[in-house]
Amino acid sequence: MTLQQLLGEIVGARNVLTAPEDTKPYFTDWRRQYSAEAECVVRPASASEVSAVIALCAREEIAVVPQGGNTGLVGGSVPTGECREIVLSLARMNRIRAIDVLNDTATVEAGCVLAAVQRAADDAGRLFPLSLAAEGSCQIGGNLSTNAGGVNVLRYGTAREQVLGLEVVLPDGRIWNGMRALRKDNTGYDLKQLFLGAEGTLGVITAAVLRLFPKPTATATAWIALDSPRAAVELLGLLRSRVGDRLSAFELISRACLDAVLRHSAEIHDPLPAAQPWYVLAEFGDSGSSELLRERVESALEECAERGALRDAAIAQSNEQTRGLWRIRETIPEAQFTNVKHDVSVPVSRIPEFIEVTERELGKAFPAVEIYCFGHVGDGNLHYNVGPENLMTRREEVSRIVYDALKAFDGSISAEHGLGQLKREEVRRHKDPLELELMRALKRTFDPKGLMNPGKVL
Ligand SMILES: Cc1cc2nc3c(=O)[nH]c(=O)nc-3n(C[C@H](O)[C@H](O)[C@H](O)COP(=O)(O)OP(=O)(O)OC[C@H]3O[C@@H](n4cnc5c(N)ncnc54)[C@H](O)[C@@H]3O)c2cc1C
Repeated sequence: MTLQQLLGEIVGARNVLTAPEDTKPYFTDWRRQYSAEAECVVRPASASEVSAVIALCAREEIAVVPQGGNTGLVGGSVPTGECREIVLSLARMNRIRAIDVLNDTATVEAGCVLAAVQRAADDAGRLFPLSLAAEGSCQIGGNLSTNAGGVNVLRYGTAREQVLGLEVVLPDGRIWNGMRALRKDNTGYDLKQLFLGAEGTLGVITAAVLRLFPKPTATATAWIALDSPRAAVELLGLLRSRVGDRLSAFELISRACLDAVLRHSAEIHDPLPAAQPWYVLAEFGDSGSSELLRERVESALEECAERGALRDAAIAQSNEQTRGLWRIRETIPEAQFTNVKHDVSVPVSRIPEFIEVTERELGKAFPAVEIYCFGHVGDGNLHYNVGPENLMTRREEVSRIVYDALKAFDGSISAEHGLGQLKREEVRRHKDPLELELMRALKRTFDPKGLMNPGKVL
C-alpha cells in the first residue's frame, strides 16, 4: 500500500489531501514567504488518530509538520521540502470538551480556533484573555506551540501562563496525558512547559486545560497622543501606579503605522484632529460600573496631561468607538505587509534608547529608510518593521543592524512569534552555546530520529 492509503486507513481517505488545489493553502505560509511540497495533508479527528499517524510516520521515517491555523509568521507551520514530510492539520480537532466554572478552566482540543475558545468562555460568564489580530483563524494548539503573546500580556501573561494541563502525542506515537486541572502541582519537572513554545518540534499538542478568569464588567479604551516612545514608557509607569492591574493593554503605534492604516482602509479615520508623532492604545478592565472606571481613567489621564506626559487623548464613548480604535491596531500588520519584519523585545525601560539607536544606525546605512514601529510596549515587545519595499532584497543587511543593536540591549530576536525557519540560523548568534547544547539534547531525547517538524527552531 502507498503511504497515502495507509494514512487513509487511519483518518479516512477523504481526510488525506493530495490534489494541488487542496494542499496549496497548507504548503504556503501566511506571508507567502515559505512554500514547499509535502507528500500530503492529513486531517485526524482525535488524539488516537494523531497517535496512529505519527507511529506510522516514525516507522516509515517520514517527517511530520504540525499545522494549526497557519497564521504563524516565521515559516514554522509549512514543509521545508528538504525531506519526505506530511502536514498534520489539527483543524478537525475542534471540540470544547468541558468548561468548569467553579475551577475556572476550559478543556479544549488543539484545533479550536482561538475566537471559539474566547466565545465559549464568554458564554460561561468567564474570560479567556489570550487575544491577537489572527484570533479568527489561529488555533489554540498553534498559540500554545508558539507561546503566543498578543494584547493582554501586560495583565494576564503569555499563552504559557494560561495553561494548566496538556495532552501531547510524542514523536514515537505515544500519548502523554498531562491533562491536569491543578493550580498547584509540585511533583517534579513541569513537562508541559517543554511543549509550550516548542513550535511542534517535540510533539503534537492535541488538547489543553486552560485557565479562565473573571470577566471584567467594565472596560475603557483610550487613544493617547505622545511626543516620543520615552513619553510612552513614562506614561505606562504613571498609569500603572494610578490604575494598577486595571491596565490590560498598552500598545505603541507610530505615526507612520497610522498613516499606513489610513492609506490602506478608507473606512478608518484618524481619531484625533491633529497629526501626532506617536500614539498609545490603552485598554482598562475592572469589576464594577463602567462610569466609575471611566472616571478613574479620565482622572489618571488628566494628571498625566498636567505633568506633560501626553499631548492629547480620547476615551471611547461607545462599543463601536472601542471597536474602531482596536481596528486601527489590528489593521497595522496588513497595512504595511511588504517590508523587513522584526518581532523583538528589550527591557521596557530601554525601549526608547533602542528605538533611537536602531533608527540612527539604519538611517546611516539606508538614507531612505522607512520605519514602522508598533507593538506591545507594556511587555517590552516591538514589531520593528523596515521599509521601503525595495529593502526586502537587502533583508539580511537590514536585520543585521537591528539584531546587533538588540544584542547591545540584551534583547530577544523573537518576542512572541517563535523561530521557525526564519530565525533558525540567527538564534545561534544570540543564545549561549550551553543553552543551545541543552536544547539540542532535549530534542534528541524526545525525537531521536529528528522527525518532528525538522528544519525549525534548531
Ligand atoms: C495578522 C496577524 C497578527 C498576529 N498577531 C500576533 C500577536 O499579536 N501575538 C502573537 O504572539 N502572534 C501573532 N501572530 C502570529 C500567529 O497568529 C501566532 O503565532 C499564532 O499563535 C499561531 O497559531 P496557528 O494556529 O496559526 O499556528 P500555525 O501557524 O499553524 O503554527 C505555528 C507553529 O506551531 C506549530 N503547531 C501548530 N499547531 C500545533 C500543535 N497542535 N501541536 C504542536 N505544534 C503545533 C507549527 O508546527 C508551527 O511551528 C499574528 C499573525 C497574524 C497573521
